[in-house]
Amino acid sequence: MMQAPVDNAPAEDLIRVENLSKHFSISAGMFTKPLQLKALQDISFTVKRGETLGIVGESGCGKSTLGRCILQLLSPDQGRVMWLGQDIAGLPAEEMRKHRKDLQIIFQDPLASLNPRMTVGEIIADPLRSLMPELKAKERRDRVIRTMEAVGLLPEMINRYPHEFSGGQAQRIGIARALITEPKLIVCDEPVSALDVSIQAQILNLLADLKDKFGLTLVFISHNLSVVRHVSDRIMVLYLGRIVELASGDDLYDQPRHPYTRALLTAVPIPDPKLARQRSIDGLVGEIPSPINPPSGCTFRTRCRYALPICAQQRPPLEDTGTRMVACHRWQELELQAGA
Ligand code: SF4
Repeated sequence: MMQAPVDNAPAEDLIRVENLSKHFSISAGMFTKPLQLKALQDISFTVKRGETLGIVGESGCGKSTLGRCILQLLSPDQGRVMWLGQDIAGLPAEEMRKHRKDLQIIFQDPLASLNPRMTVGEIIADPLRSLMPELKAKERRDRVIRTMEAVGLLPEMINRYPHEFSGGQAQRIGIARALITEPKLIVCDEPVSALDVSIQAQILNLLADLKDKFGLTLVFISHNLSVVRHVSDRIMVLYLGRIVELASGDDLYDQPRHPYTRALLTAVPIPDPKLARQRSIDGLVGEIPSPINPPSGCTFRTRCRYALPICAQQRPPLEDTGTRMVACHRWQELELQAGA
């Protein structure tokens, strides 16, 4: 496989998402109008070449839907997905095929995502058959073996079946399948959440090594902020389909501004007992509301200990503070409190 080129030029935007929205129609019965599930609303962000962007939030916040919209496995209802300057949102399947080899995905459940009737070699080679049919059989096999070695699998495993592998090894197969076309961007959708904690670090380290070695750009999706922080340059926090905070990993982790980010961080162990006590006050209460009928104004207000009457009346805009994006009427007060 190609090594990453050494390049000192400023990183370009590989992906630029502009005002993306995605809704799903949910049947409410034969004689009733379908309900609208607002999975994503007015999402804008960029991912630079070579960057890892983490996307974090609870189950149902829209993060996997966003990953699929980036890859055009789902078409957004509104907005643009600029891939290297070209809008790929809603491209016909045949047009999109030209970009598929550059845009790959790693799934959450490694064993469930592998065809049990195919050998490891066939699974890893599968994207090559459809996306790079010009390769000869020997070139395909050589590429499969090189990729297996890159992810820590022995070439002699090539004729084995998925059930013969542990969860961690199965995820290495999934990573090899994503890597085989030499993509530019990989969306990692909860790639370690189905694995034992002892294996998670191995897979995270492998992804970090592969990113450096092959110059990959990653979008890393997880419900676990400590996992996301481990691998991400910047982190986007989603709540009920909207961005509530976007900042560098250090800024977000050390100085969270949005009450929802603070709440997520209470689940992350920290060594400083004073800070841990302060953070425990911000803990998350209650269940995430239904995206079919979200609260008015700020959708986090029903769980926010800092909510004011204005929070029910006006949705806070996503403001650019210079160092981060944050959507909260009280972010400046909270910043002052944090600095006191
Ligand atoms: Fe809480 Fe209000 Fe900020 Fe929403 S806008 S996070 S309810 S303080």
